[in-house]
Amino acid sequence: MQRLGQRRRDLLGLDHAKLNGCRTGCAHGDQANHRSGRADDHRFSWSTLRGVPAELFCYALALRTRFRGITERQGMIWRGAAGWAEWSPFLDYAGAELVPWLRAADEAAERGWPAPLRTEIPVNSTVPAVGPQDAYAIAQSAGCRSAKVKVAERSQSLVEDAARIAAVRDALGPSGKIRIDANGAWSVAEALDAIAQLAQFDLEYVEQPCATVEELADLRRRLARAGLNVPIAADESIRRVKDPYQVAAQEAADIAVLKVQPLGGVRACLQIAKRIGLPVVVSSALETSIGIRAGLALAAALPELPYACGLNTVALLKADLVTEPLLAVDGVISLRDLVVEESAIDRHRPNHQVEKFWQARLVQTRELAGG
Ligand SMILES: [Mg+2]
Repeated sequence: MQRLGQRRRDLLGLDHAKLNGCRTGCAHGDQANHRSGRADDHRFSWSTLRGVPAELFCYALALRTRFRGITERQGMIWRGAAGWAEWSPFLDYAGAELVPWLRAADEAAERGWPAPLRTEIPVNSTVPAVGPQDAYAIAQSAGCRSAKVKVAERSQSLVEDAARIAAVRDALGPSGKIRIDANGAWSVAEALDAIAQLAQFDLEYVEQPCATVEELADLRRRLARAGLNVPIAADESIRRVKDPYQVAAQEAADIAVLKVQPLGGVRACLQIAKRIGLPVVVSSALETSIGIRAGLALAAALPELPYACGLNTVALLKADLVTEPLLAVDGVISLRDLVVEESAIDRHRPNHQVEKFWQARLVQTRELAGG
């Protein structure tokens, strides 16, 4: 706890009111929690965790394999009146794009979750752009009946993608479901060619094969003309655009992938799911179990859940911040409350420079969000 105390003092150098969105007065906690620091500590909305003051923590967790171009996941966590929240926007997000991620964290900290309609969430394993042997091992050891396989990684070929998918098909057997995710890397012509070649592996769907909504719509038309009945899912075309409903309006996708943090929270996602008129797959933004809990809350609250969710991604991290990580058992993750492990927070604290970056990022985003 000594280092936690030090971190507390470190953070006192920042404007806590801005960090926590507390404009005036202290909504949570009591004066006894404000044990040290400056005269304006009373503005900081500290809450209590078993009598211990809880505040903002930065984390840096190594990934088992390079994923989405990164080898380490960073973010912040804090606890509010309703529970723990994670704020971990990817580093390629900036400015106003960060605000929905903050709304999602505020929801987790201050409001908690809507009533669940189910308590077990079917999930897929996630297979990074690894070689066939590793892909086989990941898909088999996860114990899930569905796998999402990353394809179209820069510097890799379609032959490598096919070998990876073939290995996953071997691991899952003919009844397993395989979806692939290109993260928008293919042109329409490349996507058409790739899907024609990869369809032999009986694909459940292809996620974000091309970058834009227009390309996805064009691809869907061409797939239909070619007699290739492979559904298209939109991910980035929903979470990184001004209007997430364009994919439906332009008939650019068969499935909507929803991620809680970039779309502004569980309730915001429920609204999108209601309006968009497409079946929904809930997926993670590669969070710790704290962020994954929000994804599970969304999956649990959706009226229908026709697909396995991409929420087993704690398996991609070398460590987690809770005592019992949210990982699939027999292909499902059960809804449960988390116990955050303070020693893990301490172990995975990033260096001072990284902490300062995240603290400044949060202050700027809080200002953009209007406090
Ligand atoms: Mg995706």
